[in-house]
Amino acid sequence: PPTVGVLALQGDVREHLRMLTEAGARAVAVRRPAELEAVDGLVVPGGESTTMWKLAETFELLEPLRMRVKAGMPAYGSCAGMIMLADRIEDGIAGQQTIGGIDMVVRRNAFGRQVDSFEADLDFAGEPVHAVFIRAPWVESVGPDVDVLGMAQPGDRIVAVRQGPLLATSFHPELTGDTRVHRYFVDMVREL
Ligand code: GLN
Repeated sequence: PPTVGVLALQGDVREHLRMLTEAGARAVAVRRPAELEAVDGLVVPGGESTTMWKLAETFELLEPLRMRVKAGMPAYGSCAGMIMLADRIEDGIAGQQTIGGIDMVVRRNAFGRQVDSFEADLDFAGEPVHAVFIRAPWVESVGPDVDVLGMAQPGDRIVAVRQGPLLATSFHPELTGDTRVHRYFVDMVREL
C-alpha cells in the first residue's frame, strides 16, 4: 500500500491517520524533514493555519514542504490544511505564509466563528458526502487549472477543489465515519 503521511505539527492528526488506514494506506505521522522524504503523499490536517505555519517554520519544514509539493507530491489539505495549500489567502494574520501549490484565493474563517460551525450534505466529485465545517474557509476564486469538486450552501461557495496531485476541502471528512474523501485521495496517491 502507499505510504501516506499526516503533517503532525498541530491539529486533528490522529483522526486523519485512522481514516487513511481505513482507506487502505500505510499512515504515518510527519514531523521532521526525513519523515517527509519517506512518504508517497501527505495530508495537511485541520487545526489552526497560523499556528501550523509558525511550527512548520520552527521545525524547518516549510521549505521542504514547498519543494516536495513543487516536485509533484500528492497532498490533501482539510480546513486549515486547505489554507496551507492555497497560493493566496485573505484574512490571514500579518505575514502569514502557506505551503501553496493550488492556484486559488482562500478566505479564512469565512463561514463565521466557532459558533457558526455547521454540517451539510453535499456533492463531492459526484458522490454524496456529509460535511462538517468548523470555522471553515471557503475558496474565493480559482485559477484555470483548478477543478471545483464541491460547493456548499450558504451562498454556493466552493468548498472542495483539485489541481493535479493537490486536493483540498473546507470541511473535515476525518470527523465523520465516511472514508470517501480519504479513499479518493489514497487513489490519487496510487495513480500519481
Ligand atoms: N480557522 C482555522 C484557520 O484559519 C481553520 C479551522 C479548522 O481547521 N477547523 O486555520
